[in-house]
Amino acid sequence: MDIAVIGGGASGLAAALAARESLDNRVTVFERQNRVGRKLLATGNGRCNLTNRGASLAHYHGRDPGFAGPALARFGPEETLRWFASLGLVTTTEPSGRVYPVSDTAGSVVDVLRLALEARGGGTVCAMPIARAGRRDGRFLLTGPAGEEYTCDKLIVACGGAAGARLGGVLSGYELLGAFGHRRTELRPSLVQLKTDNTWTRPLKGVRTQAQISLEQDGTILAAADGEIQFTDYGVSGPAAYDISRATSLAGPGCTVCVRLLPELEKVDIISYLSAKRNDFPDYKAENILTGALHNSIARAVLRRAGIPLDARLWALSDGALELIADTLIRYELPLTGTLGFDDAQVTAGGVETAGFDPETMESRLVPGLYACGEVLDIDGDCGGYNLQWAWSSGRLAGLAAGGLLEDDA
Ligand SMILES: Cc1cc2nc3c(=O)[nH]c(=O)nc-3n(C[C@H](O)[C@H](O)[C@H](O)COP(=O)(O)OP(=O)(O)OC[C@H]3O[C@@H](n4cnc5c(N)ncnc54)[C@H](O)[C@@H]3O)c2cc1C
Repeated sequence: MDIAVIGGGASGLAAALAARESLDNRVTVFERQNRVGRKLLATGNGRCNLTNRGASLAHYHGRDPGFAGPALARFGPEETLRWFASLGLVTTTEPSGRVYPVSDTAGSVVDVLRLALEARGGGTVCAMPIARAGRRDGRFLLTGPAGEEYTCDKLIVACGGAAGARLGGVLSGYELLGAFGHRRTELRPSLVQLKTDNTWTRPLKGVRTQAQISLEQDGTILAAADGEIQFTDYGVSGPAAYDISRATSLAGPGCTVCVRLLPELEKVDIISYLSAKRNDFPDYKAENILTGALHNSIARAVLRRAGIPLDARLWALSDGALELIADTLIRYELPLTGTLGFDDAQVTAGGVETAGFDPETMESRLVPGLYACGEVLDIDGDCGGYNLQWAWSSGRLAGLAAGGLLEDDA
């Protein structure tokens, strides 16, 4: 049987390797870029956070996140790690559950996949952006940009999503599946930096801190996360900002990003810290009241926002002034203006409607023999290795199903 995979990224390579577990299947991967796995190389800041040992349905989103259940149940993080070990990849797990290659380089992940596919006789055609896919004489017909034609019995669309546009994120997968009658939902950038009024972030550009960050609208908290944030000249970045970015992307106007600085301290603890400083060091300048607790630039920004002159002496600060400082620390408010776009996003929220596919096989309900996997579908995960896990799980399931190997794998 001839099986074609469009897209040589995470899910496409997993699908191709799975399908080629039977040597009766001839498998060819078509990749539009000059090499396979280009986006993979950039993942995890070049380290590739390839999965998360805590991957469960709760970390996935989309119109029907339950669609991801069968693939994750069959091929979850532990099976994925065994599979990677069988390809020669040595990994390490961080306390958060995030898994990385021990080499600390994403190139190791791409290399073990690429070499294994080569060794198993899977074909790869790079620099081949498939322009159209359709049916001819009972087979699938793929057409390249210069009219090149390829036919196959089974077709797996693994073109990824719109995110990471500079690394190859394109709309192509949606279009190819659209030609077979599959519809998609609205697409939005996710795991992406937040844009806010930058009056109070620009002076802190590049400064990182631990914080609690929330997205609020009319007093309702729409999303919240704890962890590191980084102030930027356009707003807020960092893992905790990414964690609320999906909700931010979907939110309407009138939202506020609220940063709680010194998140481990209650207001009463902050007040007693500030009072102790005032008692113990009355001649300090106000700009030093938070020295030792926060980055100096953040401390100065907080005082400015609270309206406290930086050169006032601590003995001159009233209890009311200390309370104002504490309130500003607890609610460092940044009016939301949006998020950065698909160029900067790590993942696409939205995609091809999963209702059109069988979650047990990833096969199209409209066109027998057609499969889809990975980010092109309307499933996206949280930050922390969950998106690549979905790519491996869905890719492997699609490859086994297309290759007629699901029963063998059970
Ligand atoms: C900067 C960045 C960092 C990330 N870090 C992490 C991380 O650490 N952990 C994590 O879990 N997730 C991470 N992600 C998300 C993760 O990389 C993706 O969710 C995952 O790669 C999706 O796999 P995929 O196979 O669906 O798509 P991709 O890996 O994007 O692969 C799709 C492939 O299809 C090719 N293609 C598209 N159209 C065509 C066509 N018409 N013809 C031929 N080929 C085509 C593309 O060139 C691409 O190579 C990151 C994303 C980015 C952008």
